[in-house]
Amino acid sequence: MKHEVNYKTPKTLLNKGTGFLNGYSHTLNPYTGCTFACSYCYVRQMPVSLFRAEEWGSWVDVKLESAAILRRELKRAKSKGPVTIFMSSSTDPYQPVEAKEEVTRALLEVMVGEPPDFLFVQTRSPLVRRDIDLLHKLGDRVRVSMTVETDREDIRKHFTPSAPPIGGRLQALAALRDAGIPAQATVAPVLPSSEAFAEKLKPLVNRVCIDDYFMGDGSGGKRTKRLPIEQLYEELELTEWYDPDAYRVVYERFRQVFAEEQLFISQCGFEP
Ligand code: SF4
Repeated sequence: MKHEVNYKTPKTLLNKGTGFLNGYSHTLNPYTGCTFACSYCYVRQMPVSLFRAEEWGSWVDVKLESAAILRRELKRAKSKGPVTIFMSSSTDPYQPVEAKEEVTRALLEVMVGEPPDFLFVQTRSPLVRRDIDLLHKLGDRVRVSMTVETDREDIRKHFTPSAPPIGGRLQALAALRDAGIPAQATVAPVLPSSEAFAEKLKPLVNRVCIDDYFMGDGSGGKRTKRLPIEQLYEELELTEWYDPDAYRVVYERFRQVFAEEQLFISQCGFEP
């Protein structure tokens, strides 16, 4: 999909962690908008997308002067108490524009100099590998969460044609493992997958989060219902996977391969 890149200087960068992310003191979004344009993205139903004329996924705003703003805000926040940051709640910090703009990298540099108590990096992009040097400096104060909703590339293409291929994400998890960066695979939202899925993740991570639309979209599945998602399952004749119980099938398969304490359901898997 062709997309438009805009440049804006934000007033603030750190926002209060609320709702699903109330375990965090702050959320941090290096961009507004996301060109991965996932069909099921719950941000499509939020004001940031609804008040914009252009379709979600077709635009991205690059936040200028981010490093200076974060440095100031982080200092102030740390003087008030523990700072735990979720990056990012409504964009992917490693979407394609980051390769050139390096806003996320600049924010990580600030956080290396002024470390928060904990940083959770949520992405589905192998580009995170570029920043292993900085992530390494954060030690056990960081965890990278790599979304891997399925091991089936045909399913990935059907639901998220503009997102990175699964193979690249698995390679990124291997690179993070080799570098000793704390990481997890995040099967969210659960999409139709093969029985071998858990075996593929086993050598790469010792922590897996499983979540779905019904637990994880912040509205009990109502936000997702307003999107034309069910239709995507119908096209594949896989409607049994669009069900509040479908995650149990995946959980049971993973339970054969991972220990119970390595598996986290929904919100628990995203907590600091
Ligand atoms: S990567 Fe995340 S923020 Fe971006 S479109 Fe997909 S679900 Fe939405």
